[in-house]
Amino acid sequence: MIRPGLALITTGFMSIGYLTPGLAAAPADPGREVLPINDGFAAVLTSVLPLGTTGGSNASAARTVTVTNRSELVAALKYPDPTPKLIYVRGTIDANVDDKNMPLNCRDYQRPDPATGEPYSLYAFLTMYDPEGPWEKKAPFGGQENARIASAAAQEQRVHILIPPNTTIYGLGSDATLVGAWFDIRPASGSGSQPMNVIIRNLSFEDAADCFPEWSPDDGSTGNWNSQYDAISVRNATHVWIDHNRFADVRILDETQPVIFGRKLQVHDGLVDITNESDYVTVSWNVFASHDKTMLIGNSDGALADAGKLHVTLHHNFFDGVGQRTPRVRYGQVHVYNNVYRATMHTNYNSSWGVGLESRIYAENNYFDMSASYGPAEVISGQKGTLIATVGNCWREKDVCLPTDFVAVWNAARDPDLNAAVGWKPSLYGPASAAEPAEAARARVSVEGGPRK
Ligand code: CA
Ligand code: CA
Repeated sequence: MIRPGLALITTGFMSIGYLTPGLAAAPADPGREVLPINDGFAAVLTSVLPLGTTGGSNASAARTVTVTNRSELVAALKYPDPTPKLIYVRGTIDANVDDKNMPLNCRDYQRPDPATGEPYSLYAFLTMYDPEGPWEKKAPFGGQENARIASAAAQEQRVHILIPPNTTIYGLGSDATLVGAWFDIRPASGSGSQPMNVIIRNLSFEDAADCFPEWSPDDGSTGNWNSQYDAISVRNATHVWIDHNRFADVRILDETQPVIFGRKLQVHDGLVDITNESDYVTVSWNVFASHDKTMLIGNSDGALADAGKLHVTLHHNFFDGVGQRTPRVRYGQVHVYNNVYRATMHTNYNSSWGVGLESRIYAENNYFDMSASYGPAEVISGQKGTLIATVGNCWREKDVCLPTDFVAVWNAARDPDLNAAVGWKPSLYGPASAAEPAEAARARVSVEGGPRK
């Protein structure tokens, strides 16, 4: 039962645990839903996944569980077990807890330098590595840096949650929440592009925050604080569907972080970062709010193996008060359609579409509802890329949707010019044959986006 019109991609993988056409069952409830036919790049069919992205929709009764805390979630995932599993999340799960579900704070994670026993102290760290002091602009090493690394590892052991293949994680009701968690969708061998077949739906992700950011004095002209944790990382993985979730900084906000070494301490990384040869990902109907760097697709100009991969579809997402990277793309072929962008004068807005090296974004029928503090020339950020097509998008001006060709706006304002000839045309619109008008998408996203009410 190979669907006509879609390429069958052949790979050499075993099909243990993957749903095959003969086993397809009618969904008994939303947790057993599979990605609809043609719904973005995660719907591309392969020999291992002849039905596209099905997650744990065919999980047995024994592997269908409801979890209410971190330990139960990790036990249900049983990484890297590929057996299909359907995991319902009820209520709030805090990742910063011990095995008895008692909360852990940043101080609880502090560890000494394993070599010398020198205890970690933020004061000692800052005194030692101040670029204005005797240490100058060298990358930190030695006792306090070793202690920071050990402390970061202690936190990572709690918040880093690896997601194995053939998994659906579905939030019950409208308030299922992960606090401080870093979901890492990644094969155990961590290389190449491997079929992971993961569905993440109906969840709120809040405050993935790193207690021990790294000081990188050579990042930019003034150095930077860099943090480890995304809400969701997708690495070396194919066939991932991230749908109807909400991602936000809630209690730990960038604007309340201190300035240290002349740079604001950054405890956040991405919300959904798709990197390391990942492919065939659909990100739909999510709300991304109150965050800076939102979605990185391709994390390095030097990641040459990403070329020809990173096929990602973003549709009907609401980017509400986020700073940048919605998305920022290197190498990827990314369809960005029917999304809504909003920034107020209080948003630390930088740009929306980062056009990176060899990226080919096709941005179609998106709606921009932006404060008068910003202009349409800020939507694109040129990051060594040359190609992006912008079709049917609109920029709201005094309640009117102004059709806006963002490439033309960029080319009039800046150099070097961008080229709209991206060399591909999207075709995977789910049940629809085309994108809907930007204003219609805006109306639906405001009602239907994020976890179901
Ligand atoms: Ca990241
Ligand atoms: Ca120009």
